Amino acid sequence: MVRTGDVLVVGGGVIGCAIAYELAKAGLFVTLVERGTPGCEASSAGAGMLAPQSENAALGPMLTLGLASKALYPDLALELRERTGLDVEYETRGDLHCFLDEGDEAVGRAAFAWQREAGFKAELLGRADALALEPDLSPEVRGCLFLPEDHWVNNPRLVTALAHAAALEGVTFARGEVGTILRSKDRVTGVSVGGETLRAALVILAAGAWSGQLAATAGLRLPVGPARGQIVCLEGIPRRHHHLLHVRGHYVVPRVNGEILLGASMEWVGFTKQVTAKVARDILDDVLRLVPSLGQLPIKATWAGFRPWAPDERPIIGPWPALEGLVLATGHFRNGILLAPVTARLVRELLVDGKPSLDLTPFLPDRFVTEER
Ligand SMILES: Cc1cc2nc3c(=O)[nH]c(=O)nc-3n(C[C@H](O)[C@H](O)[C@H](O)COP(=O)(O)OP(=O)(O)OC[C@H]3O[C@@H](n4cnc5c(N)ncnc54)[C@H](O)[C@@H]3O)c2cc1C
Repeated sequence: MVRTGDVLVVGGGVIGCAIAYELAKAGLFVTLVERGTPGCEASSAGAGMLAPQSENAALGPMLTLGLASKALYPDLALELRERTGLDVEYETRGDLHCFLDEGDEAVGRAAFAWQREAGFKAELLGRADALALEPDLSPEVRGCLFLPEDHWVNNPRLVTALAHAAALEGVTFARGEVGTILRSKDRVTGVSVGGETLRAALVILAAGAWSGQLAATAGLRLPVGPARGQIVCLEGIPRRHHHLLHVRGHYVVPRVNGEILLGASMEWVGFTKQVTAKVARDILDDVLRLVPSLGQLPIKATWAGFRPWAPDERPIIGPWPALEGLVLATGHFRNGILLAPVTARLVRELLVDGKPSLDLTPFLPDRFVTEER
């Protein structure tokens, strides 16, 4: 046995690191087990958009959760900078959903209508106004839906800052691959890592797309698996582009250092980490039509990552019923960067305060409980 503690977090992505930090601030003794470096999987592969308005087609629990999480970002960014010195590049200039033809425009107008009716900030801009915001847009652009309250961060930095802040709060980082979640009848007792046992009163499963596999080691059927996303990263000029851009399901995310992320695919191909020629071409076709000058930039990198996907595409947050000592925080799919702060807060409220401040019903693991061993 290596050591005992209050809480053991499995997985050091943005979700695990945010939870570890939050629980340590609340005074719990936390150990986080990660097989690589913090953020080495989806949390660095993602694009960092904090875009609940872009991501939702209607009012509902996902939008409520996303807005609640986005609201936590300004303070979190400041707090992380004060505590760690790291700037997570929280950017707030909004998102242009650009129209290249009538079909795009119809989709944009429909989104504009419900968002305005729901009381959100949204504007329909003509070509001249769109070009005034982003001069490199193609003259082919007919206009755009401008969502000024969708934001973004540098997500690899965010995970590093969360991990750093968690360590400063006293979280122990253990490097190793969790083989099994250990249980004794109706209680989880810890995990096995490379032949050793880590015991804990509470295990938080935050292993991203691998959470389903790990749950199976405790005899649980948790339908969480990988949804691959591919990104092409260009080497651009800092501050040349100022907004998130969307066009026909693809996007452009400018980072402070000049990197420009172009994404992304959505593929169910298991854990095959590849960038494929077809997906790269599809992304580049749409994006270069929108911003032709990007075609002159060097490709700096390409990568693929695995979004943690559950069949109803909602995160899974809360205790596994009828099994004491296991809490899930996974399945964040396309929105784990956005949802990390609220997930951490909800887990802390569940464990420390006893009552979450948002209705967790749509996100509880109960919806997937079919059978146990
Ligand atoms: C291309 C792409 C674009 C995206 N864009 C956005 C976006 O713009 N905005 C947004 O909000 N979200 C975005 N996402 C989604 C977001 O990245 C994920 O939802 C989020 O990163 C999930 O975080 P996580 O901590 O659950 O998973 P991960 O980051 O995958 O972390 C899980 C960790 O668990 C570790 N682990 C797994 N198994 C074990 C084990 N047995 N033992 C020890 N450690 C283990 C892994 O090494 C990993 O570090 C995007 C994702 C992709 C792929």
